[in-house]
Amino acid sequence: MIREIRLYGDAVLRRTAKPISDISEEVVRLAEDMTETMFARRGIGLAAPQVGESTSLAVVDLSLGDEKGRTLVLINPEVVGQEGEWTYEEGCLSIPEVRADVVRPKKVAVRFLDIDGNPHELEAEDLLARVILHEVDHLKGVLFVDRLPPLKRQILRPKLLKIAKGEIPSER
Ligand code: ZN
Repeated sequence: MIREIRLYGDAVLRRTAKPISDISEEVVRLAEDMTETMFARRGIGLAAPQVGESTSLAVVDLSLGDEKGRTLVLINPEVVGQEGEWTYEEGCLSIPEVRADVVRPKKVAVRFLDIDGNPHELEAEDLLARVILHEVDHLKGVLFVDRLPPLKRQILRPKLLKIAKGEIPSER
């Protein structure tokens, strides 16, 4: 089921997501719905708070759903290492019509559980590392615009306020 995307200004996006202690049917369904929603919106990552669930779950798929079986389901992801730095333009399904260059580590090591509860430690770099870091940020209530230099944030402020007021709809 495709779920509604919560937009900038929604309090759920600012909460710290709760760790998952039991991978219940509800969690499995949430992961499926999030994957479906991400594909429908042509996103490459989605975190549970973006669909209104303050729970530590994110999905990532750089193939946009074009390649089967590529979706990474991250339960309770934790960054355990990072290296380097690079700048790249980011956007977010929760912040329509806003894109900006964000500095992030080039490589990342992340620990997480998969949907079957198996623990993994994954090393990723470039775009995959970036998307994972963007989603882990969501689970801490952090949005990519928080990582911009103050001046850039100030320039975006009117647009962000418009989104918060519901004057800019979700991108289709
Ligand atoms: Zn996002």
